[in-house]
Amino acid sequence: MLDFELSEEQKQLQALARDFTRKEILPAAQRADREERMPEGLLEKAFATGLLNPELPEELGGSGLSLLDEILIAEELGYGCMGIYTTLMASALGLTPILLAATPEQQRRLLAPLRERPCLLAFALSEANNGSDAAAMRTLARRDGGDFVISGSKMWISNGGEAELTVVFATTDPSQGHRSSVAIVVPRSAPGQQAHPIHHKLGQRASLTSELVFDEVRVPAENLLGEVGAGFRIAMQTLDRTRIPVAAASVGVARRARDEALRYAKERQAFGRPVADFQAIQFKLADMEIGIQSGRWLAYRAAWLADQGRPHSAEAAAAKAYCSDMAFSAANEAIQIFGGAGYVGEYPVEKLLRDVKLNQIYEGTNEIMRVIIARSLLRA
Ligand SMILES: Cc1cc2nc3c(=O)[nH]c(=O)nc-3n(C[C@H](O)[C@H](O)[C@H](O)COP(=O)(O)OP(=O)(O)OC[C@H]3O[C@@H](n4cnc5c(N)ncnc54)[C@H](O)[C@@H]3O)c2cc1C
Repeated sequence: MLDFELSEEQKQLQALARDFTRKEILPAAQRADREERMPEGLLEKAFATGLLNPELPEELGGSGLSLLDEILIAEELGYGCMGIYTTLMASALGLTPILLAATPEQQRRLLAPLRERPCLLAFALSEANNGSDAAAMRTLARRDGGDFVISGSKMWISNGGEAELTVVFATTDPSQGHRSSVAIVVPRSAPGQQAHPIHHKLGQRASLTSELVFDEVRVPAENLLGEVGAGFRIAMQTLDRTRIPVAAASVGVARRARDEALRYAKERQAFGRPVADFQAIQFKLADMEIGIQSGRWLAYRAAWLADQGRPHSAEAAAAKAYCSDMAFSAANEAIQIFGGAGYVGEYPVEKLLRDVKLNQIYEGTNEIMRVIIARSLLRA
């Protein structure tokens, strides 16, 4: 039997996230974009509201939300500001490999601070020369007694340098490819790390993106997730989950584009009538609505499959690719409906387009999403 209704708890969670977006994100987003930083105090408020690291299990002091719950939050954050979304959800991206692969002892030890204070995490897979082909990673993790010693660099790391914990993917032997890959949790306090922030991004400027350099960074072997050889698999399993919130946040962006365009189209007059009276404009709005409704169901179903422990790799890829392409198109059409006014920063629609472009690129480009979907079709 199919049931398209959210539970009462889920509706309350959605209302909570919507309210947070209205009060805390929408008024601060344009300035955060200009100043290239998170609004003052927002992380603390997100923590107090339970919107930071929402998948942290209850036994570790968290809310223990399911992925379906989490994407309800993601859609609302995406509606408000993709840069702020990325700061919060890149933390969930860093938390996911620990939840998937750490032992209960490791989880208790590593995640204890998350219940005490607002902590960000990060996920460091991409390198300057290896993005889509992440298995070709060159960052080295050399075993030395009871430690791993990490050398190399990671590129484009969201929350890089600010995260208390970074899950670093490295290789113990570059000649062995992903068969020697490891996932290691590196605390910010470990000496030998440098973060170089990347400025002047096209969009999502509230989110900190950095290059991370590791110069003989020593980490106890107890921080290894799974075993040697499992790093790449852990990274892929993580992304199979976290692409679904990216899809949901993209639906949020499209919803915002629709709302802004609808409001403007009713107010703006041309040829003596509101531009909303023209069918050319109405059809753009209708197409946005079609995209929002279909994208949301793709994201819900992928999250539901993941929560059931069922295979969801191709579904997550489909949701991520469809929703981010759809949201890019919705933001583009919103600018078109605004005409010249849409092209400048006085209205929020140009920021939507700049921000959502990244959704087609990070957590695997949409070309790679299509590779995953095609592979699954050909295998079947
Ligand atoms: C702002 C920002 C934040 C990010 N945050 C993080 C983060 O927190 N952690 C992290 O690890 N990474 C992060 N990334 C990195 C991101 O995931 C990569 O940029 C992305 O995976 C693409 O890799 P690349 O940039 O090296 O592009 P490349 O791999 O060089 O790809 C270049 C082009 O070739 C295409 N291409 C490559 N291979 C194929 C193929 N087999 N078939 C078809 N087309 C192909 C790509 O789709 C793309 O169009 C972030 C990136 C940005 C810009």
